[in-house]
Amino acid sequence: MDLDSHRNTLQLLIGEDGNRAALGELLEDRYDVVTEQSVSEADLYIVDDYTFPDYYEALRDRVEADDPVFCPVVLIRRSDHRPHISLPDPDDHDTPMLVDDIVEAPIERALLFRRLNTLLVRRSQSKDLRRYVSQLEESNRSLEQFAYAASHDLQEPLRMVSSYLQLIEQRYEEELDDDGEEFLAYAVDGADRMRDMIDGLLEYSRVDTAGDPLEPTDLNAVLEDVLADLQVRVDEQDARISVDELPRVEGDADQLRQLFQNLLANAIKYSGDDRPRVHVSAERDGTSWLVSVDDDGVGIDPEDQDRIFDVFQRLHSREERSGTGIGLALCKRIVKRHDGRIWVDSEPDEGSTFTVALPLADASGTEDA
Ligand code: ADP
Repeated sequence: MDLDSHRNTLQLLIGEDGNRAALGELLEDRYDVVTEQSVSEADLYIVDDYTFPDYYEALRDRVEADDPVFCPVVLIRRSDHRPHISLPDPDDHDTPMLVDDIVEAPIERALLFRRLNTLLVRRSQSKDLRRYVSQLEESNRSLEQFAYAASHDLQEPLRMVSSYLQLIEQRYEEELDDDGEEFLAYAVDGADRMRDMIDGLLEYSRVDTAGDPLEPTDLNAVLEDVLADLQVRVDEQDARISVDELPRVEGDADQLRQLFQNLLANAIKYSGDDRPRVHVSAERDGTSWLVSVDDDGVGIDPEDQDRIFDVFQRLHSREERSGTGIGLALCKRIVKRHDGRIWVDSEPDEGSTFTVALPLADASGTEDA
């Protein structure tokens, strides 16, 4: 960043006896200097250890109001007899300290400028970062709103199409020839698929806004529900499903149920010609649990392994296997809301392993898991 392109404002919170005038003169060449003795809206504050306690409260309020933008305070240390004031520990996020740099008096001019400039660059970078984050949040919000509004508003005309198709079917069935019946069946099928896609999009757009708070959740109970919901499909295809002992994770039970329901339903749906075999297991990895759903189905080409997590991306035709292409996109979004990750390891014809990394529940929860 070019610091000369706009001048930064430095405020001197130093008493008369602390060489305020001399320091002001030194800094004036490079910065806009404010010498008013109350905290205002500067880019950087300079205090000395004699006056620091007088401004402590006001500076702390100012820095807090600026959160999360880094708002630097530089302390000029003139005396060793004063209480020790230390610099913030970058790893300690809970107790941020006010002072960002300490310069020992007597001051070396070049060194002082270098240190002030470093802080000002950091401040401007964190401001930029905050601006980008809020722009991103805004565009995410509008996208979510768009997806929600579009899918919600599409439901109504679709309902109309479906009900008139039904009316035609009921009232004119006798009068339709074979072609007519076939065309009508296609139209009904199209309307049904569109409804599934719209429902999926609606669900997708509401993951962040309509979720429950994350709390310690027992994945064994979640999987039990999933298996109960999938019972018919499991029986139909005579699938063999085994589930290891699973941990507790920090999560939204309902969304986790949706997540594993999609993964297990896919593992059954995309099985080869053989009887589907699916295994669910968990393994601890640092501060996460890795929960895997492993199948011995048709597998996925490495080239396609990223795009299957996007909305409406399918590798199979409708004729081969039905689906909307939203399931894995929904999974990815749910996992993201849980601060986790999802990926697949697979080779064509070698089966697939979908792995979800989820944060550990509270320490006590993980011990008894
Ligand atoms: P859908 O199943 O409705 O098509 P998904 O988003 O759940 O949508 O999956 C996207 C695509 O990823 C599927 O169409 C399929 O081609 C592929 N896929 C998903 N799960 C598996 C799996 N377990 N084995 C092989 N392919 C899979």
